[in-house]
Amino acid sequence: MRPIPLVDVKAQYEPLLPRIREAIDGVLASADFILGPNVAAFEREAAAYLGVREAVGVANGTDALVLVLDALGVGPGDEVICPAFTFYATAEAVARRGATPVFADVDAATMNLDPEDVAARVGPRTKAIIGVHLFGRPAPTGELAQLGVPVIEDAAQAFGSPEIGRMGIASTFSFYPTKNLFALGDGGLVSTDDPELAERVRMLRFHGSRDKVDFELLGYNSRLDELQAAVLRIFLSELDSWIAERREAAMRYADLGLGAACELPEDEPGHAYHLFVCRSPERDRIRAALKEASIGCAVYYTTPLHLQPALSYLGYRAGSLPGTEQLARENFSVPLWAGIDADTQERVVSAVQAAAPVAS
Ligand SMILES: *Cc1c(COP(=O)(O)O)cnc(C)c1O
Repeated sequence: MRPIPLVDVKAQYEPLLPRIREAIDGVLASADFILGPNVAAFEREAAAYLGVREAVGVANGTDALVLVLDALGVGPGDEVICPAFTFYATAEAVARRGATPVFADVDAATMNLDPEDVAARVGPRTKAIIGVHLFGRPAPTGELAQLGVPVIEDAAQAFGSPEIGRMGIASTFSFYPTKNLFALGDGGLVSTDDPELAERVRMLRFHGSRDKVDFELLGYNSRLDELQAAVLRIFLSELDSWIAERREAAMRYADLGLGAACELPEDEPGHAYHLFVCRSPERDRIRAALKEASIGCAVYYTTPLHLQPALSYLGYRAGSLPGTEQLARENFSVPLWAGIDADTQERVVSAVQAAAPVAS
């Protein structure tokens, strides 16, 4: 049987190759490779899509977080609350600024921050909260924003969800090639309704300068590449149909009965289904069976951030974040991409059902 990959990025961009080549040719003809017209246009188009005033292209999603934290003045002595069940970059960015990541637990059902646990960890040094829209499902930003601390939305996995970017002070995005909106390489974005914050991030991405003459801040070299921006403009125009196809595929997994063999991700209208991440106490058995059947399956954050070697200085112990640790043991994802067909999904469901006893 033909192997089934976990994601098929090429299937998404292949029909667009003529437009991609044309866009790249346009940049080559202009020789305008750094902060050219495509970056400016993509920033305008992304801001309009997201419904925010400002969008600033940066080099990647990690830098987007670092630059926002820097622009907010987060540094040594400050604490930033974030989940431990997320990609490492979320907490790495905080620590890179010299601030202290404070890990709050996640709700095992939503896989996102538990606002009650966050509230219990807010203290006088708390400078910000980073809510991660994990796997494309909106984090409870509204509830987090009520805690009286600025909320940064790490939306690296959620471009295309209509529920994001409304209540936080800024949102950060990654265009890593497997994300919902992706580049053919690295890329990132900061969006915000605050023009001053946007201006600061704009300066920080170019060495802390507005005009390349006066350098007012210690900044970074972190720009969105012009070639990537040209491609991103094409992909942004396709994003709504890609998200609709992702949602359709997610619904189909439920219709095909995958939920009889494992816990499916809870749906909600704003879920952008970056990944289709399920849960089961039989995770390892399911994973082995899918591997045997040459079906893509991945597990995420099996060593959550509070137990990562580089962050051991923070002093967390196994058992300190029960929801996080349960998810680390039980989560696994099955193949999902925009355009996956029903036959492929049926094979996936059969393989999972064969591996896991059907729940009563
Ligand atoms: C991908 C990702 C990042 C980092 O993005 P890069 O572009 O790879 O630097 C940050 N946070 C989350 C939640 C991510 O999924």
